[in-house]
Amino acid sequence: MALIPCPACTRQVSVQAFACPGCGHPGQATPPAGGGVARMLGSVAGTYISTTTLASLVLGVVMFVCVAAVLITLILKSH
Ligand SMILES: [Zn+2]
Repeated sequence: MALIPCPACTRQVSVQAFACPGCGHPGQATPPAGGGVARMLGSVAGTYISTTTLASLVLGVVMFVCVAAVLITLILKSH
């Protein structure tokens, strides 16, 4: 991993770092054209989708358990 001096504080910063860890100076290495933004949007979208999927999954399980409980209660009462 290559290191380059930060233009603001001359600390050795990884070329893969988006900002200097010492002073926060941005743009040590410009992310690949659109790659950083696309990856960020992708991770945000992935988190959003997985969260809604998880929520609907939990909701579905809860609904199923409620329906099953009602059905079991009705079946037990009928006997
Ligand atoms: Zn710096």
